[in-house]
Amino acid sequence: MEEESVEVPSMNYDEDELQCRRNLVLSDLNKYIGKKFPQLIDATIVEKPSKSRSVLDLCGVCVLQHDSGKPFFLCLMGKCFVEREAIKITKQSTYNATTHLLSNHNMVASKTEAHQRNVSAIWKHIKGADGQFQCDPACWLKGNLSAFACENSIAFRDF
Ligand SMILES: [Zn+2]
Repeated sequence: MEEESVEVPSMNYDEDELQCRRNLVLSDLNKYIGKKFPQLIDATIVEKPSKSRSVLDLCGVCVLQHDSGKPFFLCLMGKCFVEREAIKITKQSTYNATTHLLSNHNMVASKTEAHQRNVSAIWKHIKGADGQFQCDPACWLKGNLSAFACENSIAFRDF
């Protein structure tokens, strides 16, 4: 019997391939990045937490510039790996990197992904609740908002 390959939906990256690329980069960081980004020679590699599912850890390597300690994200996706792409991020915000991953590689940061799921869940909720909503919108809204807030452990005042 032929074994069926398991297809993982919405995964447009190959984790094994990325691990391979990561190993190559880590084995000689200066050789990999030094020519195009001399400022990153002797950068410190930020260890990836072994269980991390963060999109940055999945798709690249984070390094800290040698002198300044400024963080950079090395993208390993697609041709970025070959062309050597280093994106400046800050300790507070990885926005530059997540935006790059989204617009260039269609990789969605998990937080954003979760948020989008929540939004579509609310819409389903609202669409399916027309009847009650028309009878008593205030009551419907109160009930559904608190249910949603509870479900997602968000403080009610956030609305
Ligand atoms: Zn990239």
